[in-house]
Amino acid sequence: MNRRLFLSTTLAALGLGQTARAETFEFTLTDAEWRARLSPLAYQVLRHEATERAFTSPLDKETRAGRYHCAGCDLPLFSSQTKYDSGTGWPSFWEPLADAVRTRPDPGLFGTRTEVHCRRCGGHLGHVFKDGPKPTGLRYCMNGVSLAFVPS
Ligand code: FE
Repeated sequence: MNRRLFLSTTLAALGLGQTARAETFEFTLTDAEWRARLSPLAYQVLRHEATERAFTSPLDKETRAGRYHCAGCDLPLFSSQTKYDSGTGWPSFWEPLADAVRTRPDPGLFGTRTEVHCRRCGGHLGHVFKDGPKPTGLRYCMNGVSLAFVPS
């Protein structure tokens, strides 16, 4: 195996070097349109998988009844009925609404996490972990800046 092939094979095995997403989404904008539509932080999180600092989102402590929509395309993603305080500093839910989100493996240096994104626009929301409460045992750990709360 030549050196270049070895390098690309190794990077692929690590899940690195894959910057373009294979999926296409129902709601699609150009990069310039996303920049114009979103705040700088929401743009970095939704479109480039950045993470907001813990305990900075007002939605972390939001307890009113309502729904949490995608801040990118306004698709309803979570109900307040599945929200709980995980203590992590990020809005947390034990279940998304039906057909609202998709997931993909997110390989990293400390293991593979499961990335969560909006089904309609592909916007990055956060990650899901298996240390959540009943009945699902899941913890959808979301960036508040990726969500827009709509009180009911
Ligand atoms: Fe969306």
